[in-house]
Amino acid sequence: MAFLIDGKKISSQIKDELKTEIAEMKKKGTEVTLAVIQVGNDPASSVYVGNKKKACAYIGIRSLAYELPESTTEMELLTLIDELNNRKDVNGILVQLPVPAHINEKHIIEAIHPLKDVDGFHPRNVGALVTGEDGFVSCTPAGIIQLLKRSNIDIDGKECVVVGRSNIVGKPMAILLLRENATVTICHSHTKDLKEVCKRADILVAAIGKPKFFNRDYIKEGAVVIDVGIHRNEQNKLCGDVDRDDVMDLVSAITPVPGGVGPMTIAMLMYNCVEAVRLQKTER
Ligand code: NDP
Repeated sequence: MAFLIDGKKISSQIKDELKTEIAEMKKKGTEVTLAVIQVGNDPASSVYVGNKKKACAYIGIRSLAYELPESTTEMELLTLIDELNNRKDVNGILVQLPVPAHINEKHIIEAIHPLKDVDGFHPRNVGALVTGEDGFVSCTPAGIIQLLKRSNIDIDGKECVVVGRSNIVGKPMAILLLRENATVTICHSHTKDLKEVCKRADILVAAIGKPKFFNRDYIKEGAVVIDVGIHRNEQNKLCGDVDRDDVMDLVSAITPVPGGVGPMTIAMLMYNCVEAVRLQKTER
């Protein structure tokens, strides 16, 4: 029977470790502050922002909320980011994506100071990830590495296949697995014989955004499967990119949806906020 990798439990462990660390920091007079900016009132974004604020409150991170109207101009947003970049009492800045279409997302990502870029999207942090230097790592793939390590799943020397090559999931995921000494293949919509490539995987990371796409034809017996996708099915229930019922008897371990990768993303955001204090101290 497959082992279910419990993202809820592991994310709680990480949050509790951070809570203890922050309490210690507070005793020494250091406060951790995250500024969260939301432009417009997209309902999904509001839920994500609300969850981030809740996690901050639980852990002891001070959160500053900026809820800006949909009509906010790019210049107004850049001005706010500049102000927060220059504030010594702000450690992390997060702009909830997507921003409205009239604002250029790339300009926003590049405006956040790399030492406050707790999402890990700034090109300098992406570069640091590739060269193995200190910096922030995108939260979802960083959380997946924690899921594997804390479930005692060995990565070293393993054949890993990452399906999806987005800047926030697929690409950083592949680099992190490489850093853990895996042999890594990245697949995308132009990959030929996707089934055959996936069947080579000891660890398969499915991140394409297509509900229940990966059935048993894509899975090697005994593989570990990480399901990044989140969708609502016809019954309004959450499901992933993997058809879990179909693969369950084949895999050795799998992340459920919900309760697998999802909870890890916020835990790693909280981790990055604490990391921000350390990196900012080193640089100054
Ligand atoms: P994107 O849409 O940015 O990227 C999807 C990738 O999948 C692309 O690289 C695309 O290839 C590839 N792809 C699409 N269809 C196929 C196919 N049939 N065969 C092979 N490759 C394919 O998605 P994200 O990376 O942002 O997210 C992926 C999923 O993960 C989504 O369901 C999202 O909701 C979820 N997600 C979950 C998070 C969490 O916290 N659990 C966080 C972030 C995302 P190409 O580049 O060639 O177009």
